[in-house]
Amino acid sequence: MNITQAEFIISAVKPHQYPEDALPEIALAGRSNVGKSSLINKMIQRKSLARTSSQPGKTQQLNYYRINEQIYFVDFPGYGYAKVSKVQRQQWGDMIELYIREREPLKLLLLIIDVRHPPSKDDCLMYNWLKHYDIPVCVVVTKADKIPRSKWDKHVKMVKTALEADPRDTFVLFSSETGLGREQLWDVILKAIED
Ligand code: GDP
Repeated sequence: MNITQAEFIISAVKPHQYPEDALPEIALAGRSNVGKSSLINKMIQRKSLARTSSQPGKTQQLNYYRINEQIYFVDFPGYGYAKVSKVQRQQWGDMIELYIREREPLKLLLLIIDVRHPPSKDDCLMYNWLKHYDIPVCVVVTKADKIPRSKWDKHVKMVKTALEADPRDTFVLFSSETGLGREQLWDVILKAIED
């Protein structure tokens, strides 16, 4: 995928701030520090357009990036912050669930998981929401460069088992460090917006 244009559009805290041009949206979810911003930057070939999304307290911002005037990446707040209060967790959950349930342009959600660790409770919760609302999902298992290649299969299998993943779902092994999986992930995204 050749990126000719990529720009940050808005940190939306309320649905009325979401863009209204109806371009297809690809959402990205994952626990804080999983490597979501690095993945966005790698996908769009920019060094630091996406800032680290893991700022505690910013539990209600959806960061919109427009790419090639064709598509939005919608970066969810990273979850799993120990310091986040119950109220903030609840707000996060309400906002995300509403977005997933009602956002018409949403075409695909990328659930980002660290290859080294089993999915968290929040990852499983997110996955189950997606299944419940019938949202197409691609699980991106990132930081592949952090473990030896010989262990990749085993770790991806561990993630699938823990999520009780639907065998029809796509899994992409990724590394923002080496670019592994970048073209494959673009293929998955472009296919999702065609359908
Ligand atoms: P976010 O909080 O999910 O947006 O995570 P970041 O993108 O800020 O990444 C968190 C940390 O992991 C940073 O130090 C990154 O440099 C590192 N990181 C992210 N992706 C990768 C990867 O694929 N490989 C390696 N080795 N490090 C990564």
